Amino acid sequence: MLKTPEEFEASLRELHPTVYIKGNKVESVVDEPLLRPGVNAISVTYEYALLPEYKETMTAISHVTGRRVNRLLHINTSQDDLLKKLEMTRLLCRETGCAQRYLCHDALNALYENTNNTDLKYGTDYHVKFLNYLERVQDEDLTMCVAMTDAKGDRTKRPHEQHDPDLYLRIVDKNEDGIIVRGIKAIVTGAPYTHEIIVLPTRNMTFQDKDYAVSFAIPIDAPGIELVSRQAGRPGESGAPLTSRYGQATAQILFDDVFIPWDSVFLAGEWDFAGSLTESFATHHRVSCIGARAGLGDMLIGATAALAEANGLDPQKIGHVRNKIADLIKYVESFYACGVTAAVFGSETRAGNFIPDPIYSNIGKLLQGTHIYDMFRIVHDTSGGILVSSPYPEDMETPDIGERLNRYLQGREDIPTDYRISVARLLEDITASYQGGWYSVISISGGGSPEATRLEIMRKYDIEERKSLIEKITGV
Ligand SMILES: Cc1cc2nc3c(=O)[nH]c(=O)nc-3n(C[C@H](O)[C@H](O)[C@H](O)COP(=O)(O)OP(=O)(O)OC[C@H]3O[C@@H](n4cnc5c(N)ncnc54)[C@H](O)[C@@H]3O)c2cc1C
Repeated sequence: MLKTPEEFEASLRELHPTVYIKGNKVESVVDEPLLRPGVNAISVTYEYALLPEYKETMTAISHVTGRRVNRLLHINTSQDDLLKKLEMTRLLCRETGCAQRYLCHDALNALYENTNNTDLKYGTDYHVKFLNYLERVQDEDLTMCVAMTDAKGDRTKRPHEQHDPDLYLRIVDKNEDGIIVRGIKAIVTGAPYTHEIIVLPTRNMTFQDKDYAVSFAIPIDAPGIELVSRQAGRPGESGAPLTSRYGQATAQILFDDVFIPWDSVFLAGEWDFAGSLTESFATHHRVSCIGARAGLGDMLIGATAALAEANGLDPQKIGHVRNKIADLIKYVESFYACGVTAAVFGSETRAGNFIPDPIYSNIGKLLQGTHIYDMFRIVHDTSGGILVSSPYPEDMETPDIGERLNRYLQGREDIPTDYRISVARLLEDITASYQGGWYSVISISGGGSPEATRLEIMRKYDIEERKSLIEKITGV
């Protein structure tokens, strides 16, 4: 059953995760002002799924149950599903900046594939357990955070080589009922205001790392789990039109010898399937990153053009402004086009679900992660200093002072000052505030560093085929 936003919040109230922010224990995540923008952003994924105009984009028929589910919990059964998921991500993120819940989709699809493949080699029963899990989260319309990134210690060393054995999450014990895990997952989006955690390995492993090859699901308030979170967005800031309303928290999740029943375990020691699970998740997730940043790009394009106009610089008439906005569009639509191509060239896995083409998924993510700075440069260059100097809303509303500011800060005669200032504040919010910095960091690092995507491109691209072409042309 699709939940309403109200039911989503009510379901969070039934959970009691241990969450700390700035040294304080959070009594209720739904009532915590510092987390409110995060709850709001995820609520939009519930709201949109119920709107008739978004039904096809936001929902799908589950091939497991035959029931309509939120597309963010759907297993892709075609290239069209891949495409719709990309469109959905853009749609959600042009409203919220970052809707976070797409991570669920990416992890569920990766687990669908990998549990099947692990069973084929090892005769395990992970896939059946996963299907039971999938059916439950689809039917209850849950939101899961995805905990992949480990603390990782010295980056040049494998998990078992680290000076402290707990720098990657690991299995410390197993018994007939389940496994016991210890360690930390270091950057987890939205964790405090989700229902469950899906844990994935963060890299490929060797036999010596087998205790680190672990994947499972666990309720967010399970015993032994503690979250150290940061605020979501810029709650309470009057000059933050987007991020006071919508934001994204990240949390460190500490696992202090946490028991996971076998029913919820999807990988436990099959070290040679850790890498494929990570890779499959990354391939799906990088397309999500593309869709998410295209949504942000929509805001940047619209606001940059609007502010230029308010400054009297018609983007269709003033040559350099036209060129800059055309470049902004070029960046956004070129990485989005890679997302489309990744979906269209998507293929069926051995498990029967569909995965985006990895080369275009990685190229799109690489373009998005590296061009974010070019995009912000264009915004800053085109907008001028008003971007960081517009008065606070309270000052604009102060009698006398406000009226004078309103008069002097007008740009083009037929465009109200209020409009000019509001657009400038939005651009400051998403490119030049604490959140602006945050958006550039999530763009470059979220979903994997540029180097990680380059490595994938070089691993997957058929350079030998290109070399054979040269032999054919030169004849040597
Ligand atoms: C806002 C935000 C939200 C995120 N949300 C989530 C989430 O929900 N779930 C999740 O699991 N993760 C999440 N991440 C984590 C993200 O996937 C990682 O940041 C990313 O994979 C990079 O890992 P890292 O931060 O540990 O950086 P590092 O791996 O330390 O990378 C830093 C630099 O070091 C380089 N480097 C790393 N290792 C080596 C090596 N062995 N040799 C040479 N160079 C190396 C990298 O290429 C990069 O240039 C999030 C990140 C951000 C910023």
